[in-house]
Amino acid sequence: MIKQDAEKIYSLLSRQYHDSQGSPAQLSGGSAFEVLVLTILSAQTTDRAVLKVKEPLFSTYPTPSSLAKAKTEDVETIIHSLGYFHAKARHIIAASQALITKFGGEVPETMEELLLIPGVGRKTANIVLYHALGRNEGIAVDTHVRRLAQRIGFSDTDNVSRIEQDLMAAFPKNLWGDITDVLIAHGRECCTAKKPKCSICPIRRHCRYFLTLNRK
Ligand code: SF4
Repeated sequence: MIKQDAEKIYSLLSRQYHDSQGSPAQLSGGSAFEVLVLTILSAQTTDRAVLKVKEPLFSTYPTPSSLAKAKTEDVETIIHSLGYFHAKARHIIAASQALITKFGGEVPETMEELLLIPGVGRKTANIVLYHALGRNEGIAVDTHVRRLAQRIGFSDTDNVSRIEQDLMAAFPKNLWGDITDVLIAHGRECCTAKKPKCSICPIRRHCRYFLTLNRK
């Protein structure tokens, strides 16, 4: 993948998806605590579903200290519409407890510290750093980003750490957070897992999958 292609791909996708309903930017706009909790809740579910529980959850538990003291079954009642709500209730309570015991009730501002919070891996930490703090520390490799990186031709591995490294090498640092958002949006709306809509895809002329299929 040559650098000009990466820049063109970013330009085409950002034109298409900025402020899209499919972007994880929909989860930002609150405090760092809210972004952290919503990002943990967003695993294996849509952002729209997560946004539906945002108001009832944070009106009941507005701070890390209130959520840290919550009963698991009370949190489950609020978030029961989400997949894996039993585990997610435990995770957001445990994360809040870690904020209180390790970080004085604040969301930490470094990758190393965020990774000390239960339920937080590099993917979640990257999203929190970008959407809560505006930091481009890495690229969050979820199922969409992994699939697109492989199809477009940025990476040839299944290892998420190496995929992140490949993407970070392809794009300038100031785009890392934003390219995550637009790749996720493109994966949800066009380059879907089973039937990618290549005929209407704005980046098909830069995509290895499309070019290989259409090679004479
Ligand atoms: S051309 Fe097809 S495979 Fe390539 S990014 Fe677009 S939808 Fe996905």
